[in-house]
Amino acid sequence: MDLTPILNHLNDDQRKAVTSEVDSDIMVIAGAGSGKTRVLTRRIAWLIQVMQVPATAILAVTFTNKAAHEMRSRVEELLHMPVRNMWIGTFHGLCHRMLRLHYADADLVENFQVMDSDDQYRLIRRLLKSMGLDEGQWSPKEIQWFINKKKDDGLRPDKVPHYDNLHTKTLISIYQNYQTTCEKIGVVDFAELLLRVCELLQKHEALRQHYQRRFKKILVDEFQDTNQIQYRWLNLFRSETNDYMLVGDDDQSIYGWRGASRNIERYLEDYPQTEIIRLEQNYRSTTTILQAANAIIANNQSRLGKQLWTSGHHGEPIRIYAAYNDLDEAKYVATIVKKWLQDGNRRDECAILYRSNAQSRVLEEAFIQANIAYRVYGGLRFYERAEIKDTLAYMRLIVNPNDDSAFERIINTPTRGIGHATLEHLRQLAKTADISLWQACLQVIETKSLSARALNALERFVSLISDMAQTCAELELAEIVEHVIHHSGLHFHYQKEKGEKARTRLENLDELVTAAKTFTSEESSNLLQAFLANAALEAGEGQADEHTDYVQLMTLHSAKGLEFPLVVLTGMEDGLFPHQMCLDELKQLEEERRLCYVGITRAKQQLFMTYAEIRRQHGREMYHKPSRFIREIPAELLEEIRLQTKISRPVSLAMNTRDYFAAETAINIGAHVLHQKFGEGIVMAFEGQGDNARVQVRFSDQTRWLLASFVEVV
Ligand code: ATP
Ligand code: MG
Repeated sequence: MDLTPILNHLNDDQRKAVTSEVDSDIMVIAGAGSGKTRVLTRRIAWLIQVMQVPATAILAVTFTNKAAHEMRSRVEELLHMPVRNMWIGTFHGLCHRMLRLHYADADLVENFQVMDSDDQYRLIRRLLKSMGLDEGQWSPKEIQWFINKKKDDGLRPDKVPHYDNLHTKTLISIYQNYQTTCEKIGVVDFAELLLRVCELLQKHEALRQHYQRRFKKILVDEFQDTNQIQYRWLNLFRSETNDYMLVGDDDQSIYGWRGASRNIERYLEDYPQTEIIRLEQNYRSTTTILQAANAIIANNQSRLGKQLWTSGHHGEPIRIYAAYNDLDEAKYVATIVKKWLQDGNRRDECAILYRSNAQSRVLEEAFIQANIAYRVYGGLRFYERAEIKDTLAYMRLIVNPNDDSAFERIINTPTRGIGHATLEHLRQLAKTADISLWQACLQVIETKSLSARALNALERFVSLISDMAQTCAELELAEIVEHVIHHSGLHFHYQKEKGEKARTRLENLDELVTAAKTFTSEESSNLLQAFLANAALEAGEGQADEHTDYVQLMTLHSAKGLEFPLVVLTGMEDGLFPHQMCLDELKQLEEERRLCYVGITRAKQQLFMTYAEIRRQHGREMYHKPSRFIREIPAELLEEIRLQTKISRPVSLAMNTRDYFAAETAINIGAHVLHQKFGEGIVMAFEGQGDNARVQVRFSDQTRWLLASFVEVV
């Protein structure tokens, strides 16, 4: 047996993890680019090939569908054969698979549909309206957040404490109402997928034991970003006969805001027998890039503490560009990419990263002007585009006519003379009779309880859907998509729009047919259902294909786990990155710093950082200071770009503040200090030197910039 492909290019610690025969769990804790994902992939291949573990006995969890596809194909490459039946996917994907298999035990209807966050939002708005609650006072977004958070915490409406608070009581009743509606119309949201499976496995002992016996090896990538319910889910498979390998990096934990808890620490407390393996060599970046990343993350107080080194090249300095405004910044970014391409490199080897999605628009325009092909990854999401969602809504209604979200979306798209009043009538009837909109529609037709014109329109709609359902029962998936696009009238509807936008829409519809042609599923034998579920699950991830030659534009969050020879971090401004909302809270600031660490460590060879002195945000011109994260990088690693000239020591960042403070004062970020007037506080940031040295201190009730000489370390 030739084990070379599996053991090739692994250092001693990596090999130890890959080939381990210990019975205990293994936790690989290591910094960015140290080969954690590589270890996990090789481990799977090793388990199958050497330890003779059947592929069906492996449960592997990754963070994105893309990562899961990648891992599967790597394993197949290593083994020179396809591995079917291996459960590898995201938390959501795997839970969906289980619910499809055990829908009856999970108290779901067979044709339940997965609802993405956009549909969830619409449903909540409709509920608010039917409950007579004002959106101004009850923000649908906040309610959505509330419901998802409670589900992530494992709490059903009757378990949420209300402390006799009227506001909370109302939120709970909306949650209750929402849940009842979901059950009635047969849809589950993302958070529900996990909670349902947890409840299912807890309730059904035989089923739980079945999976505990089945999964001998459980492997998890990016473990630092798991939340409460995911932790609980993972632990439901635990038994005497299986073990876990978890890999993660506490310095890259960037989902605290979405409820990810300190699960690495928690796991080691809960399971102290776990063997810890640390990887300390980085294989991705140049020394310069790695030093910058290490210097920044060193400012965080709450860390497990790790060393990371590289034997790579020293590499080029990190280039900083101070743009006049956001347009200038975008133009400069396009210039960097142009130069990169002129030097003979590929477009998909560079990534432009930003903190907030909204930043992409200006960058996109610069790329269009410069005629550079790009894709927004995770932003303009294919499955979230109107024309795609319309088509999918028709398909969902065909599968399950009681799907109210789908019904609402297309009842009058394209317009077919069903007016607002008719729809309102259906909604009222559905509510009072506790039936779905579709059933209400049938009832109205039967009882002829509307004007002849309205009835006519509804009858046409009902027969359209019924006819399509009948025809589609005989068709292949791609034919179904094609049939729906044409017979629904959507194709004609978008064709009429004319212009560039309409053309893109029609191209997107074609693309959907292509997607259906190549679609396969292991989750379900019903390809149509699997396709619809997949569309909902993929919506969050976008269509960017890493094998296509496009410049990649994405948020820092979606860059996790990826690597690129050239990386540009844009919008490096205090107030934007770190984000305004995180400036005053040490915990949140540390999460922003980890995000910066993630961003920097995506770069293999070249790293640029840009910031704008003036930026248009929310329709106003904002003046921000350069990000404090730039100031945390040792000056000798930086080079400031001025168009035409190069200045090796950044002018605007004149000195390395961190070194100054370390040498001249005893003040560190996170240090507890005392101020005569304001009392005790924690240092959040510092700037300047000598008489101008200032520190930003968070006191219990406020945050202030103060002269460093006025505070005393306690
Ligand atoms: P991240 O924390 O960003 O997810 P990671 O720890 O998962 O990173 P990988 O993506 O597995 O790291 O590896 C980083 C890069 O280093 C990859 O290009 C990988 O192929 C390469 N690599 C890992 N280990 C070795 C090794 N022993 N020899 C050569 N290259 C390696
Ligand atoms: Mg990784």
